Amino acid sequence: MQELSARLVNITDSFWSPRLAVNAGKAIFHQWKQLEATRCIDNFRLAAGEKDGFREGWFFADSDAYKWLDAASRIYALHADPELASLMDSFIALLARAQMPDGYIFTYNQLHFPNQRWVNLQVEHELYCHGHLIEAGVSHCEATGRRDLLDICIKAADLLVHDFLNATNDKTCGHEEIEIALIRLYRVTGKEEYLELARRFVERRGRTQLYGIHWLLQRNSFLKRKTYVNQLRQDFIAKHPEHKSFRLPGDNYTKMPRFSRLRQRINALRGFYAQQHAPIRKQTSPVGHSVRFGYLETAVAMLCREQQNLLPQRLALSRVEVTQRTQRGEASNPYSLSYLVSLVPFVFKKDADEITNLISAMEQAWERMVTRRMYSTGGLGAVPGLEGFGDDYELDPEYAYAETCASLASLFWNWEMALITRNARYSDLFEWQLYNATNVGMGLNGDTYLYNNPLAVHGGVTRKEWYVVPCCPSNLSRTFADLGKYIYSFDENNLWIHQYVSSETTVDVGVPVKVKIESELPWNGKVRIHVKPEKKAEFELHLRTPSWGVSNPSEKLSTASGYDPRESNYETISRVWTPEDETLNFNFDMSIKLRRAHPKVKGHEGKVTVTRGQLIYCLESVDNPDVDIFTARLDPSTLSDEFAPGLLGGAVVIHGKTTDGKSLTYIPYFLWANRGESQMTVWVNIAYQ
Ligand SMILES: [Zn+2]
Repeated sequence: MQELSARLVNITDSFWSPRLAVNAGKAIFHQWKQLEATRCIDNFRLAAGEKDGFREGWFFADSDAYKWLDAASRIYALHADPELASLMDSFIALLARAQMPDGYIFTYNQLHFPNQRWVNLQVEHELYCHGHLIEAGVSHCEATGRRDLLDICIKAADLLVHDFLNATNDKTCGHEEIEIALIRLYRVTGKEEYLELARRFVERRGRTQLYGIHWLLQRNSFLKRKTYVNQLRQDFIAKHPEHKSFRLPGDNYTKMPRFSRLRQRINALRGFYAQQHAPIRKQTSPVGHSVRFGYLETAVAMLCREQQNLLPQRLALSRVEVTQRTQRGEASNPYSLSYLVSLVPFVFKKDADEITNLISAMEQAWERMVTRRMYSTGGLGAVPGLEGFGDDYELDPEYAYAETCASLASLFWNWEMALITRNARYSDLFEWQLYNATNVGMGLNGDTYLYNNPLAVHGGVTRKEWYVVPCCPSNLSRTFADLGKYIYSFDENNLWIHQYVSSETTVDVGVPVKVKIESELPWNGKVRIHVKPEKKAEFELHLRTPSWGVSNPSEKLSTASGYDPRESNYETISRVWTPEDETLNFNFDMSIKLRRAHPKVKGHEGKVTVTRGQLIYCLESVDNPDVDIFTARLDPSTLSDEFAPGLLGGAVVIHGKTTDGKSLTYIPYFLWANRGESQMTVWVNIAYQ
């Protein structure tokens, strides 16, 4: 199954197009201003020796600048904005000057520890930062065809190959990302060392002896280095009283469960936090930091895709060689090259088994995540101190961390799973997380964001212009810019439609086929699909039947959240298609559905979520001033929907009444917190009938 570049898909969607316009016209420029204001870009000027001052921000702050460049490149691929080009060009030139001659670039060490590198791989995100640089370089090359940033990345990646290809098992990054980046770099350069290094980074996980002690030593070293940097800062300020120090913007209030930090320490010592607890084929549960987990699984799935692509080619090649050598009479000697070559298919059989094992481990982890460790919004990560997964059915709505980046990581993983397994469930979860857990992360104006995404808020949570760790905004922007990539896929006989987002493209399924989607989702269920091959051709069209359209969820309690993507499947239309513009019409069920939590999820008895189509709804206090949204009891027989054109850009709201006759107004969860600080809840008490 192949994917399309977002550049080849023209999105014309009444829901997404305005969102993408805000992303390209406002969000990306706002983010650059914030990076400058928080001196993240200055760190590179300091490293290049072009400015005096003191480095500011987290040790991994470089990654935020790279992720911005990645997002800007992907946006530029769709809208060649000269102002954006100018910002990118000057930053790329700065990176070239800040990079060391051997390819190394990590401003924390360059400025504070010029003679140290790769000393705290489990804690300090050095490889993670290089990963985001490389991803930016690949995106920039794909967007512009230019090599200036790509060459910077190749220089850095070649250093990584030199230093890490033949290294010990403890040489992995505590925060996965470099693996994805190296695979993407391999795809544009064809250089196999990058793919092999990514594979080795993945295979090394969970193989460090006494990992807990290793982690403790690294953490201790990190703390010592941090103390030293703080001393350097004080010395600098003493010598330069004119230096204006500043504080990074604060976080939202996060309600912490008891022992949250202690759990993080134990989780890290046991290796779960950074997915170092077991070799990759034995990692069959979602554990630890949920962004790291998602990036690791994405990389594993990408490796499987590469292996799947290589297998037929390598098998075909080996068979040709065997035939040629047999014809030359060389095959009779069991020690001859041809005999060894004839064994190659068996070696590849082992390769195939290895892929199957990897996919099986991922499928088990996915199943457990979806059935026991995922919030009803699609949010991931129940323990704030850990920023990650809790125990099975541990899904407190108020403690929910559900970092925006965790749902983004899940999107990347689910897309890869859709491609390698051809199972509709992955695109179904992609849709649910895209519209809910991810979309909630960016405010309607593009200049405010949510970092963690609880499902119940009594106060203290608002959208902020920036965060002390600003990883989510540019991650959102790069993913929104790439939305076109996730709608279609194809091979020589098949065309898949994964998402019903209005768009047009041409795919090659043996013949070029123009395909166009006209969708009224998520507000109305009408979808029209036009299929027009260049000439008469036989191929299969696979249309995802959304899980939310096929069942009555209130009767089932198969998952913790009440949402079950496993009910999705592809409806296949197999026929001869003609160049006549053939139109398929659908009308998805957009009725209001109530979903209950699994009985094992504590505190959810007698509560429901309200959903309609792929959207989950919430009560926000601003719409319900006369009701205590946390104690209100919904009378389900009173529910009705209505399109409210003046509300938050136009949205379907759901009206209902409490059992004592007071009005309730639900809005889509992704729209909450766009009108100042308020209270909010997704789970609402229901009157038993
Ligand atoms: Zn984030």
